[in-house]
Amino acid sequence: MANLSISAVCNQQCAYCFAQDWQTASDGPAFVSLAEFTRQLDFLDRSSIDQVRLLGGEPTLHPQFIALSDLALARHKSLMIFTNGLMPKAVLEYLSALPEGRLNVMVNINEPESGASPVLARQRDTLHTLGARAHPGFNIYRQILQLDFLLPLIAETGCRPTIRLGLAHPCLSGHNRHVQPHQYAALGEKIVRFVGHAAPAGVRVEFDCGFVPCMFSEAARQALRAAQADVGWHCNPILDVDAAGRAIHCYPLAALGSLPVTADSAAGALRATFEDRTRPYRAAGIYPECAACPARATGECPGGCLAATLRRFRPAEFRVETPL
Ligand code: SF4
Ligand code: SF4
Repeated sequence: MANLSISAVCNQQCAYCFAQDWQTASDGPAFVSLAEFTRQLDFLDRSSIDQVRLLGGEPTLHPQFIALSDLALARHKSLMIFTNGLMPKAVLEYLSALPEGRLNVMVNINEPESGASPVLARQRDTLHTLGARAHPGFNIYRQILQLDFLLPLIAETGCRPTIRLGLAHPCLSGHNRHVQPHQYAALGEKIVRFVGHAAPAGVRVEFDCGFVPCMFSEAARQALRAAQADVGWHCNPILDVDAAGRAIHCYPLAALGSLPVTADSAAGALRATFEDRTRPYRAAGIYPECAACPARATGECPGGCLAATLRRFRPAEFRVETPL
């Protein structure tokens, strides 16, 4: 797996945006060129990666988005697109004409501040137009968690009945809104309750990286399994490749530095280099208890999000969270 970041431009300003450090530090072009994108497709070929995962910024704002997608499809690859759903009409029409088996669009949706949100209306239209090619994603960035609005959204739009749940992890700067490990257990209870509502509606919940087993009780983990939630405890170098052909571990760890994607780079070797760089920090984990945790010893849990672990050892920030 590797993500290609084709656009540094976005038309939303999510408070939890993981890409903030990367966007602040980046001196690269705003959009990937066709020539650089072709080199990155060569990199995916060398790495035996069959899925082209496009993200940004907002990837669909790339002025040549359709040409880039055509290049990927011409190599018999499938497309995965991480979008906020506010895409140009021509792009939406193009994507809606692609075969369902070649395309997976994750529409990242924030909880609307009011029922009549124009943003949510456009996202609803995107899900409806793409149907089974698309499904919602939701990033948890505060303890107040309302997910139930996603169930009627899926039913009304006829999109794929899957929700990708993410935890908003901290950028190393800590400048994005994020959840803190001491909040995980309370969030775990809310997530399990929601999964219990989603399963009877035929909606499957998938977990993104950085969830940990100890945020759920044993009974809660059994309930997740019974609901066939796609539960996993992962943290590894995803590889996000920017428009200048530089790979980072993942957005929250952008400040750990990048590696150039050269004419003979392959994803496995780049990941191994990032794993070597981060090994000394891995020993710690997000909690002091991780050091003696059986789940850690067996390899079931990697110790949570490495960015959160690194933040543990930085000077504390004064931050007041006010209920919204
Ligand atoms: S290793 Fe740490 S985060 Fe993972 S289950 Fe154990 S205590 Fe929780
Ligand atoms: S450090 Fe690990 S868990 Fe955190 S965002 Fe990166 S890959 Fe995900």
